[in-house]
Amino acid sequence: MEAPTFFTRWRDIRIGYRLGFGVSVLLVLMVAIALVAVMAPRQPRLELAGTIRLAHERATLLADLRSQLLQQELMARRLALPISFDESVETIARLDVERKDFARTLGQLVRLQSHDDDRDRLDELLALGGRTAPAVAAARDAVLAFNPAMAGLHLAHGLSPHDASALGAIERMSRRHAAAIQERVVELEATAERTEWAVLGASALAVVAAALIAWWLTHGITEPLRRAVTYAETLGRGELDAPAPASSADETGAMLDALSGMASRLHAARSGLEKLSTEDALTGLDNRRRFDRALREARRQSSGATGPARREPDDGLPLVLAMIDVDHFKCFNDRFGHPAGDDCLRGVARALRAAQLPPGAVVARYGGEEFAVVLPRCSADGALAVAERIRHAVEAERIPGAVPGEPWVTVSIGVCVAPHAADFCDEDLVRCADGALYAAKQAGRNQVRLSSLSGDHRPEVRPPVASAAS
Ligand code: GH3
Ligand code: MG
Ligand code: MG
Repeated sequence: MEAPTFFTRWRDIRIGYRLGFGVSVLLVLMVAIALVAVMAPRQPRLELAGTIRLAHERATLLADLRSQLLQQELMARRLALPISFDESVETIARLDVERKDFARTLGQLVRLQSHDDDRDRLDELLALGGRTAPAVAAARDAVLAFNPAMAGLHLAHGLSPHDASALGAIERMSRRHAAAIQERVVELEATAERTEWAVLGASALAVVAAALIAWWLTHGITEPLRRAVTYAETLGRGELDAPAPASSADETGAMLDALSGMASRLHAARSGLEKLSTEDALTGLDNRRRFDRALREARRQSSGATGPARREPDDGLPLVLAMIDVDHFKCFNDRFGHPAGDDCLRGVARALRAAQLPPGAVVARYGGEEFAVVLPRCSADGALAVAERIRHAVEAERIPGAVPGEPWVTVSIGVCVAPHAADFCDEDLVRCADGALYAAKQAGRNQVRLSSLSGDHRPEVRPPVASAAS
């Protein structure tokens, strides 16, 4: 037996479960598509937000540094002006505050994740405090010695040039930051576009997968149903022995099994009925109904009728009907009883079967103790030979006779030969064979007489066959 695969197992699942499973798969697929569509662009978006926040913080710190340097420069220039002692003390104190603010802001900038390219500039700015400290200390001393002009001079020489170069460094950092941010934004835009395409592709694939699953699901249900419908239509046309399609363990399979069981029961019943309607119950030979049909068919073919019923080759041989009648059968019944008479009839039927009739011959019980044999294409000599074989076969059954002087039951046979393509009806044939049978009886029974249908359908009985009676 074929090992069950996933697909054959799938076919065996009840349709309701299959539908439930399929719909669940489709739902999961749709939720997955929605999640991918929502989640996939999230990372580039978060990165973009982070980049913007960092850029903003850096830009703010750089702007603060710039402003603090400018403030220091302003302080330095103020000290170079003719101002009072108090003002110069206040100015040098504010310069200190600005320098501390600058150092603090610079520390914040260093703590922020910084690009390697900025390291040199940051180091330069960090070293600024050390390089300018002597000038600032000298300026403070000069202020305290009531010489603010000298303080201005110290600052002009020791602080301003460094401030100017620091300002330049800050400007370059700002420009580089701006360029880096722009580059990063372009990168993120490209990533976002790629992500969008990936999401689009994944969605398209998911839609195709969903369509395939839906088709598979539908096909898995409709295809067995279609086969079941075709099978039911075949049965409806009366083809009860048509092979049932492959069954499955779902509702369609159960329906197919029920249909197939019903069809085989109907088929058996119909065969039984057909047998009953065409078989003789006592002898098992064909009955009168079957004989009538066979004779009609053979006569149509012989008389040259065309059409689908005509199947035999047109060899010009006559149609032969032999009527066989048990001799003195009434006496047999009277002497041995009807059950023995029935046995006798069964014995005659056995002899008919054993008589080696030619292919195509139809042997029937015509009625009572009379039998008939139709030989569709047979010469007169052939018909006589067949009739003789039958007569001998009945004698060979050795059924005890009921009439004195006749040890075994015998039969008389009237043979009618109808020329090929002649115009006659079934009754003409039967009448002709009956005439020959009557002649055989008249001639003393247990013999064969042959008659042929002439143009006016009047039987012409031939003289007795030399070897007939034995
Ligand atoms: P003949 O030689 O001239 O044919 O004489 P016969 O006695 O055979 O002819 P007849 O027609 O007088 O008798 C036929 C008998 O066959 C009468 C009837 O009781 C008997 N018969 C008909 N059908 C059956 C049957 O099915 N079973 C039995 N046991 N007898 C039957
Ligand atoms: Mg009779
Ligand atoms: Mg008889």
